[in-house]
Amino acid sequence: EYKGMSKERMLDIRRQNCNPMTLKVTYYKKPVFIHQGYMQWLWDVDGSRYLDLFAGVATVSVGHCHPKVLTAAEQQLKKLWHTTNIYIYPTLHEYCEKLASYLPDPLKVIYLTNSGSEANDLAMLMARLHTGNYDIITFRGSYHGGGPQTLGLTSNAAYKYPVASGLGCTNTMCPDVFRGPWGGSNCRDSPVQTIRDCSCAQGHCKANEHYIEQLRETLATSVPTRIAGFFAEPIQGVGGAVQYPKDFLKEAYRLVRERGGICIADEVQTGFGRTGSHFWGFQGHDIIPDMVTMAKGIGNGFPMGAVVTTPEIAASFARGVHFNTFGGNPVACAMASSVLDTIQEDKTQKVSLDVGTYLLKELAKLRDKYEIIGDVRGKGLMIGVEMVTDKTSRTPLPLGEMAEIFEDVKDMGVLIGKGGLYGQIFRIKPPMCITMEDADFFLAVFDKSLHNHMKKR
Ligand code: PMP
Repeated sequence: EYKGMSKERMLDIRRQNCNPMTLKVTYYKKPVFIHQGYMQWLWDVDGSRYLDLFAGVATVSVGHCHPKVLTAAEQQLKKLWHTTNIYIYPTLHEYCEKLASYLPDPLKVIYLTNSGSEANDLAMLMARLHTGNYDIITFRGSYHGGGPQTLGLTSNAAYKYPVASGLGCTNTMCPDVFRGPWGGSNCRDSPVQTIRDCSCAQGHCKANEHYIEQLRETLATSVPTRIAGFFAEPIQGVGGAVQYPKDFLKEAYRLVRERGGICIADEVQTGFGRTGSHFWGFQGHDIIPDMVTMAKGIGNGFPMGAVVTTPEIAASFARGVHFNTFGGNPVACAMASSVLDTIQEDKTQKVSLDVGTYLLKELAKLRDKYEIIGDVRGKGLMIGVEMVTDKTSRTPLPLGEMAEIFEDVKDMGVLIGKGGLYGQIFRIKPPMCITMEDADFFLAVFDKSLHNHMKKR
C-alpha cells in the first residue's frame, strides 16, 4: 500500500524542480503515478494495476524487478558498488566475456557506458578516429541520443534545439515503405517480417532500388567522398517500428564501406532478443556491422550502455585514454550478466517470437477492420501500429484523436507508447515476459477503444 506523497504535490514538484519539459511526454490527460512494478505489471499509487506494453521504451527486457536480476544486484551491492576501471574486478570481466560470446566475429571488444546516448557518442568518436574522416550519415526519423553530438544523428524535430550541434552529421531519407513515396500497399500484405520484402507481393515493387538511389544521391551531394560512418537502427524505435525494404541495409553498408566509412548498428531497442527470430536486430538483415551500440534492455532498466567493436577499430582508439567513471561498474555488470542468463532461462527470445508474431497477426486483423489503422508492422515484441485518418490518404491521425484512444487504452488498464514523426504511431514493446493471455487482453482493450472512437468520429 502506498503511503507517500500526494499526486498534487508530485505534479507541483515536477513543474518546479524536475525537468518540467517531460510533463509534455507523460502523455496522458490524467498522468499515471507509478508506485511499483513486477514483471509485466505496474501498479499506481491508488493500487490500480496496468499491463505494461511499453516497458519504459523497450528498456525493461526480462520483467520489472525480475527476482533473478534483483538477487544479482543485492549480492553485488553487499560486496562492491564501485571501483574505477583502473582496478581489475571479476564482475566486469565475467560480463565482458559473456556479452562478447553473443556477438559474431570480429565484434569482440567492449566499452561499457551508462546510456545509449553515451554509447553512440563514443561510437561517433571511434568511427572518426578510425577512418580519419568526419561525416556521418543517419536516417531521417531516427533516434540515437540527446547529447550535443548525438543530436546530429537523431533526426526528429521534437528533440532538436536551435543551437549548433552534431556538426558533420547528415540525415538521409528513411526507406519507410509505408509513409515514404515507394512501397506501401505491397509490403502491407505481409506484416510479419523483419525486413519487408518489397518484391514479395506482386513482384514489381521497386521500392528498394528507389530508396537506395536516394542514399546514393545523399552520398553524391551532401558529404565528402570519404565518410566516417553510417548509423542505423535495425528497426526504428522512436520513429515507430519503421522497417526497411529487404536488402536495403546490406546495400547501404556496401556503399558506405566503399567510401571508407564504418557501419554502426544501434541495437538500443532491437537488441537482446526483442525481435524474436534473432538476438540482434542486425542479424535479421544478414549483415555484420563494424560496431554495435546497445543500452536500455541490456540492464533490464538499470542504467547501462555498451559499444562493441572490432580489435582493429579498438586499436585506432587506443592512442588516447578513454575513461568512464561509472561505465562497467560492478552492480551494472552483475545485473546485466544476470539479464543475459535470464534471457536464456526464461526463454524470452522465444516469448518475443511467439507472442510478438501472434500480436502482429491479430493486429493485422484489426487493421483490416478499422479504417484508421494504416499499417501494422514490426518483428517480435517491437511493434508499430500506424494510425491514419483513412487508408487512402494515409494522413496521420491527428494528435487529439491519438490521445483519446491512448487515454482510453490506459483507462482500461494497458500502457502502450506513442511515436513517429507526427505522433501517429502506437508502439508496443513490452517486457519479454508477457503471455498470450496478456496479448489477448490488450487486443480486446485496443479493439474496444477503437470501436469507442469510431462511434464518436
Ligand atoms: N538509440 C536508440 C535507438 C534509442 O531508442 C535511444 C533512446 N530512446 C537512444 C539511442 C539513447 O539512449 P539513452 O536515452 O539511454 O541515452
